[in-house]
Amino acid sequence: MEQMRQLTLNIPPTTKPRVVIVGAGFGGLNAAMTLPDDKFQVVLFDKHNYHTFQPLLYQVASAALQPDAIAGPLRNLFHNTKDFHFRMLRVLSVDPLTNTINTSAGTLQYDYLIISSGARTNYFGNENMQRFALPLKTIPDALNMRSHLMQIFEWASLNANPELKEHMLNIVLVGAGPTGVEMAGAFSELRKHVLPKDYPILDFSKMKIYLLEGLDRVLPPMHPKSSARAQRYLEKMGVIIKLNTMVQDYDGETITLKNGEQIKSFFVVWSAGVMGEVLAGIPKEWTERGRILTDPFCRAIGSKNIFAIGDIATMKLEDYPRGHPGVAQPAIQMGKYLGKNLFALHRDETVKPFKYFDKGSLATVGRGKAVADLPGDIHLGGRLAWYIWLFVHVNFLVSFRNKLLVMTNWIWNLFTFDKGNRLIIRPYIRKGDEKSKAVFAENQVGS
Ligand SMILES: Cc1cc2nc3c(=O)[nH]c(=O)nc-3n(C[C@H](O)[C@H](O)[C@H](O)COP(=O)(O)OP(=O)(O)OC[C@H]3O[C@@H](n4cnc5c(N)ncnc54)[C@H](O)[C@@H]3O)c2cc1C
Repeated sequence: MEQMRQLTLNIPPTTKPRVVIVGAGFGGLNAAMTLPDDKFQVVLFDKHNYHTFQPLLYQVASAALQPDAIAGPLRNLFHNTKDFHFRMLRVLSVDPLTNTINTSAGTLQYDYLIISSGARTNYFGNENMQRFALPLKTIPDALNMRSHLMQIFEWASLNANPELKEHMLNIVLVGAGPTGVEMAGAFSELRKHVLPKDYPILDFSKMKIYLLEGLDRVLPPMHPKSSARAQRYLEKMGVIIKLNTMVQDYDGETITLKNGEQIKSFFVVWSAGVMGEVLAGIPKEWTERGRILTDPFCRAIGSKNIFAIGDIATMKLEDYPRGHPGVAQPAIQMGKYLGKNLFALHRDETVKPFKYFDKGSLATVGRGKAVADLPGDIHLGGRLAWYIWLFVHVNFLVSFRNKLLVMTNWIWNLFTFDKGNRLIIRPYIRKGDEKSKAVFAENQVGS
């Protein structure tokens, strides 16, 4: 037994410089795919064995897509790479003095380290929110959300208490960034086209979808024209939007706002903030607000051989005094930049600094409704923006299989108005949620 517990990384020795990449998100994956494996040994670590296409997580949560459609198996993506080594494990810490990385399966020396560990949900210290609200950052989060949602409807169908039955159906989304807005639209379409057919016994005219935002408009990172447009679409779809609204507390059944108002709901999604995933061992003076400060070459300030890219990095430039936006494109572009330039940096050659090409921002609200801020101060809405959204999202999926799965699901949804993934494969009960636990245990759900 003891022997079985002995883990080792099994990375072969090399005479080439070894590059270790932490995280196979947009940044790490693009760096790994671009780095020349004839010049470097490339080692990629992630706690999952797949790349997650986070922009479509909400579609898994709202039963529009199956999880495999947005996950790219990492080993599959590197079949034709020779000196590349993927290991599924958790990176625990870094020691910049000895150039060593510590993982749940052992330690490894690196010549270069690329940190692309992304961000995690930030609850701003609200412990009850962390305990009861649902986050959306990973595929397991999305599957938990889907199960929880479907369990609520199954539960409501069995419930005799009319008052409880009414507020059981309510959905509250905290944070009206792209994730909150896209989810509000998706749940509203589910309420209109799918749920009344699935559950004729329930009265979905009573189901309320709330979208709460602390600032004074939805989609705060986008242009005010796009915010106003998205708000109009959502209100037409029956979403109740509350702006300048801060959440105080949530006990799993009642959410209390700072103005004293209360909303009853068993389904609260928290998408109001993220924070960096800085690894232990990175000196505090290299970081700011949970992110690693870098120079214009993506190199951590204070280090010669540690780089940070994507959501974990803050590269302060004149155009971006607070760093680049926490979206996929800066991560992708930084990953490719480093992949292409690391060998030149290794040889002390002159390299152009990183320059971000802003391709614009998109958010969809539902069928035929999206908003797009494009370069050149162009702000589109409606069907045209929706087509752009569809094209961009399919285009950036990592594999042909993902593209095919997503497109066939979308075409199916388009013609049938159905979302075919409303399965409770793995029942989910929030930790500490004794009420749900009792009900589901009583109904023998998942047993
Ligand atoms: C729900 C949601 C919707 C979004 N929608 C959009 C959108 O529409 N458009 C857009 O441009 N952006 C969107 N984003 C943001 C975008 O996904 C991120 O900006 C992007 O993923 C950042 O890439 P990254 O490589 O820095 O980190 P990530 O893609 O987050 O990757 C980090 C990786 O590091 C791994 N990791 C972290 N810590 C460790 C550790 N200790 N050990 C091992 N592995 C570790 C993780 O498993 C993960 O695979 C969305 C994000 C979310 C959560």
